[in-house]
Amino acid sequence: MYNYAGKRNYNRKRSQVIRPLVLSDYCLKCQGCCRFQEENSIWSPHLLKSEKHFPPASRRKNSLKLIPQNGLFYCYYYETTKKCCRTYRRRPFECRIYPFLFCRKENDYYIGLDPQCPLTEEKFFKPRLEAFKKYLFGLSKKPGFKMALISNPHLFQDYPKVKAIFPLELK
Ligand code: SF4
Ligand code: SF4
Repeated sequence: MYNYAGKRNYNRKRSQVIRPLVLSDYCLKCQGCCRFQEENSIWSPHLLKSEKHFPPASRRKNSLKLIPQNGLFYCYYYETTKKCCRTYRRRPFECRIYPFLFCRKENDYYIGLDPQCPLTEEKFFKPRLEAFKKYLFGLSKKPGFKMALISNPHLFQDYPKVKAIFPLELK
């Protein structure tokens, strides 16, 4: 079953509406997302300046609040008993594009793909991944989307081991 989350535009600008990508039943078994080794992990979700309705991390105002539990740091919205996202249909912009990521190496900006997500290796998922890549590429050419990225440079991180997919022109 495909996730349905990106189909509705909840208080988002048109340029920030993102189609759903990952598969909820697969993710429920994997559980690789939404928890982090460190409180200030670069992998934790970054918030757009316009996503002020999400609770920020205490030390990083542009990141989502994490809750320490059993030696890990869980996203504020992660429901540990049901193993799901409590705000799935309204989750942050960045959560919507994963396993794609906004990446930066010095002055180079690009869209990357995280090979740590097992879905990226699944044959059945390749066409969907390819379609989403094209979709993101199309979005990256739209002035509204570009402006959202330019105004939120903190989205871009130097993630280790991420595969570069296509460069972003942010001028
Ligand atoms: S790592 Fe990939 S498959 Fe696993 S929960 Fe995250 S998006 Fe789903
Ligand atoms: S907002 Fe939801 S999808 Fe995003 S990290 Fe938190 S629990 Fe996961």
